[in-house]
Amino acid sequence: TVATHEIPAVACADLRVPLVTGGDIGYANLDHAASAPCLDKVRAAVDEFLPWYASVHRGAGFASQVSTKLYERTRGILRDFVDARSTDTVVFTRNTTDSFNLLARSLPKHTSVVVFDTEHHAALLPWKGPNVRRIETPRTRLAAVSAVDEALADCPQGPRLVVLTGASNVTGELLPVKEIAAVARRHGARIALDAAQLAPHRKISVRELDVDYVALSGHKLYAPFGAGALIGRADWLRAAQPYLAGGGATKLVSRESVVWNSGPERHEAGSPNTVGVYALGVACETLAANWDGIVAHEEELLARLRRGLAAIPGFAELRLFDAPVDRVGTLSFVVDGFEPGWLAAVLSAEYGIGVRDGAFCAHVATKRLIAVAGSSGQQAVRVSLGLGSTTEHVDRIVLALRQIVARGARWQYEKPEGRWVP
Ligand code: PMP
Repeated sequence: TVATHEIPAVACADLRVPLVTGGDIGYANLDHAASAPCLDKVRAAVDEFLPWYASVHRGAGFASQVSTKLYERTRGILRDFVDARSTDTVVFTRNTTDSFNLLARSLPKHTSVVVFDTEHHAALLPWKGPNVRRIETPRTRLAAVSAVDEALADCPQGPRLVVLTGASNVTGELLPVKEIAAVARRHGARIALDAAQLAPHRKISVRELDVDYVALSGHKLYAPFGAGALIGRADWLRAAQPYLAGGGATKLVSRESVVWNSGPERHEAGSPNTVGVYALGVACETLAANWDGIVAHEEELLARLRRGLAAIPGFAELRLFDAPVDRVGTLSFVVDGFEPGWLAAVLSAEYGIGVRDGAFCAHVATKRLIAVAGSSGQQAVRVSLGLGSTTEHVDRIVLALRQIVARGARWQYEKPEGRWVP
């Protein structure tokens, strides 16, 4: 039995989806790592706010004042959410990808960047130039710390940045952020934490981890799409060219010159996503008040899921590290003899289960980890748990995979545009 924990409710818990076998079934969303469903509380707060939203920083009207107040208040909520330093700035972005691109554009000249090759493409690709080192992720956490140490020792003089995910979006395993940050400090390097997968599952403390930047996405934190943040040291951001040129980023404009803002607005030109930012803040406050229940809920479901999946013939889980490590409720696997895309299509069409298949915007990781798991191919299936997950969902996918593997293909599926459909 699974204990019931105090966890925030998600707004789409009762969604029903059609089955090819006829009728409909409650949707089992096991794809929280891609985007998490909206919290009930967020939905209610947004509903209340919608009649009032207006452009921020631009009007004396009451609605504009309300929007400005909520928007600016959310910077503090985000700072608290990751336990950032009081001097850290909070720039609102579209998502983690946007946050890292902003940071990449704000690096001082000749900054060396060290990043593991198994990172999500959002953390792997924005860094340009000859001083970018993409190092192979070792098979132990200890070796990972040493690998960063060696890479940094090899960097030319000048500013340095290590970019690192908190939790792998492929395997859910936690990276040794604190240990790597300590090594980075010894080399005078800064650390940017990709918290897209960590932030929805664990409390983050910038101060305890001693990292410099945190990037996160609202749509993975139980808020709707379109708002994210880059939180961290203000100096590089203040000195950089504005990320976008336009209204809101400026202090004073004449025909001859522009004086740009030096605060976070410098990088937020254009009318911002007021509703999205507000929703992100409400989601963060809600999660922050419920960590114990959230972690317990996911750990119980994950243990149940892994027990069930391990008994399926031909099942192989992808793992970044050889030894078990602390992890969030995400895992990827292959099943010998079954194409991942086909498995995902059958799970959806016949069982009402939503999972992700493919290479998860982490091509290097997925390909390498499939080979390490003793299989071939470039794609896998990913199951990711969250607040919308229940024991019934977990039991359903375990039973479904057992049945699918036992019987092989029962329905005719086609692949007209690269995806399997019934
Ligand atoms: N980093 C990780 C670890 C992720 O899982 C994702 C999203 N899959 C991203 C970055 C990018 O997030 P977004 O698409 O919201 O920019």
